[in-house]
Amino acid sequence: MKTAWFAILFGTAAGIASVAACGSNDGTAPDAALADSRVIDASTRFANEGDMLGWLRQEEKLAHDVYVALIDKAPPFTNISASEQTHTDAVKALLVQYGLPDPAANLAAGVFSIADLQTLHDALVAKGSRSVLEAIAVGLEIEELDIADIREMRDIATHADVLTTLDNLERGSRNHLRAFWKQLQQNGGTYVPTHLSQTEFLAIATSPQEMGGGAR
Ligand code: MN
Ligand code: MN
Repeated sequence: MKTAWFAILFGTAAGIASVAACGSNDGTAPDAALADSRVIDASTRFANEGDMLGWLRQEEKLAHDVYVALIDKAPPFTNISASEQTHTDAVKALLVQYGLPDPAANLAAGVFSIADLQTLHDALVAKGSRSVLEAIAVGLEIEELDIADIREMRDIATHADVLTTLDNLERGSRNHLRAFWKQLQQNGGTYVPTHLSQTEFLAIATSPQEMGGGAR
């Protein structure tokens, strides 16, 4: 499933693109006719493994920075923000190992060099700041987005250690999603996933925590 990753922000346009992309593409082969209708997908966000790592470094930073901004809203944000720091650090270690520049080297909290991630960060902090339930929903949105994106990144990754890191980060995201889901239940909230199918989302949310990868 191709993910219009910023449907959170641009629901209407991304929704149209997402529907168009899903309409006749079985996901097994590139569809040139549909490529232009996808607002943003892996093929336009990062052309190679290095670009992908640069994006992932900041996407994990985004999770960290948003959760820190919302830390007073609900208990899970404390442990999960710390987990996101280990995630973005793990990606930085890969950048260093492969001699690639770290795009987040001199970026303060809440600042990103990728304009789309800056916009996403600002919108999510604004949304999550409105209420406890909105904050928990932001947590769920970030985690399902991360899972969907990491699945696309796995198609671009070629190195074993990069793939292992993607596995660890996705496992962490599944655990984070479960923690936020539990918090949502405790607060009597509802949530409709936008990056994963409802079936996929619930299968993860209602299954037990896994060991490793940032379990909280
Ligand atoms: Mn993460
Ligand atoms: Mn996470």
